[in-house]
Amino acid sequence: MPIRSRIRAALATLLISGPMLVQPLAAQSLPNVGAGLPNLGGTEREELSPAMERRLGEQIMRDLRQDPDYLDDAPTLEYLNNFGNTLVSARPEVRGDASFDFFFFAVRDGSLNAFALPGGFIGVHSGLLLAAQNESELASVLAHEIGHVAQRHIARMLGAQRQDMLVPLASLLLGALAARSSPDVAMASVMGGQGLAIQRQLNFSRDAEREADRVGLQILDAGAYDTSGMVAFFGRLQTATRNYGEGIPAYLQSHPLTTERIADIQARIRQQRYHQHADNIDFYLIRARVRVLQNDNPQGWRDAAKIFETELAPKTRVQTAAAKYGLALIALRQGDAARAQSLLDEARAAALKDAEPLASLGVEIRLAANQTDAALKQSAAAREAFPLSRDIASQYADALIAAGKIDEAVRYLRDQSQLYREDARVQQRLAKAYATQGKQALQHLALAESYAIKGSLPAALDQLQIARRAPDASFYDQSIIDARERELKAQRLEEMKQNKEGKNKP
Ligand SMILES: [Zn+2]
Repeated sequence: MPIRSRIRAALATLLISGPMLVQPLAAQSLPNVGAGLPNLGGTEREELSPAMERRLGEQIMRDLRQDPDYLDDAPTLEYLNNFGNTLVSARPEVRGDASFDFFFFAVRDGSLNAFALPGGFIGVHSGLLLAAQNESELASVLAHEIGHVAQRHIARMLGAQRQDMLVPLASLLLGALAARSSPDVAMASVMGGQGLAIQRQLNFSRDAEREADRVGLQILDAGAYDTSGMVAFFGRLQTATRNYGEGIPAYLQSHPLTTERIADIQARIRQQRYHQHADNIDFYLIRARVRVLQNDNPQGWRDAAKIFETELAPKTRVQTAAAKYGLALIALRQGDAARAQSLLDEARAAALKDAEPLASLGVEIRLAANQTDAALKQSAAAREAFPLSRDIASQYADALIAAGKIDEAVRYLRDQSQLYREDARVQQRLAKAYATQGKQALQHLALAESYAIKGSLPAALDQLQIARRAPDASFYDQSIIDARERELKAQRLEEMKQNKEGKNKP
């Protein structure tokens, strides 16, 4: 199902349970948008509570993650989250009272756009990642979206118009999520007579945009990014529009770049110190990676390879490293591990120093070539070099399994599952390791946990049933299965109750 249809489905659910999403301000603390940060008046009487906002965001993410256009790529997620969370930490007060854990992700889409979902989930289109020429430009877009979250614009948009939930919900989901290119005709027809009203409400207000710019610039300044990147990038988006006549890029549709807005940004920049930001090589490597993943098919690889070849003409070391890295990834996709290895060696030579995406691709190539000892050795070295990388950490489990060290893999994954309780992939790998050991009860128990994390409670309960019937289910396993079944059933009951309550409200 394309992302837009998923959003429509999610929207339908939300509309049903809509009214319960809003809670009166009296019942909660005042909206604190972070000390020292500007506030949008104080006239809103209602807004979405942080907990509800997060739940709403998680619900949308659950659907988005199933979408083939969701870039479920560990190195890309690793980079975006390191980068995005560095921005957040530059000005920690943007977390505000809601104190959301920000999560950044990419969507496979050539158009230039980025969007904030409820609850601190920030998405960026692959097209925008490719259009950004340096980290300051990418930072300017992400910092602006962080600004929308920090100022709780979504919560206010949803809460402030309780009497007519259709419009704000639709505009949120249309404007922030589905703004793929042009106004969504299909959505308008779904909404019947509301269609026109929705189109008028597609965007955040101008005040909200200005406020997000302001917070964004504060983040850029605190993080020592070149703030002129913001104007440069937005300006280039506009030029691109004129040159290609493709219509207004989606990002500028949802974030109109008025003369007033530019003047406002420029005035603020003048008050700030100039920072020269040294770009991390990971930015260029991940951009090359995204170029390959954006059209992940034989024709797309050939097109991407042509672009990399032109980028090899006398350029900086970093650009050469990124182009060679992209070509290595394409060779791996085409099944030529030997060529991938030699291109990666060239990328490493050009890069002068190691970087997470290079190390990660190195292990991937060894695994694909079935060189399991080398894969394990490299993966262990990568863990030493990048101890905080989730990508490298999960690769290590793959390397252990591939090398036949299953007992060690199980021990390692059990530790990982304690560290990263929200990571379904750890449970999936654990299930795979148990399957290799022939431990059926534990395999299905791990699968149950992976479904539970993804929010598919019925599937999780099914897996528990299978685990219970497994011939090797010990007495101890049975008691764990019983306990988990009770918990998940209670959780499911609670979910059903909430949906029902939502439907019964006027
Ligand atoms: Zn905006």
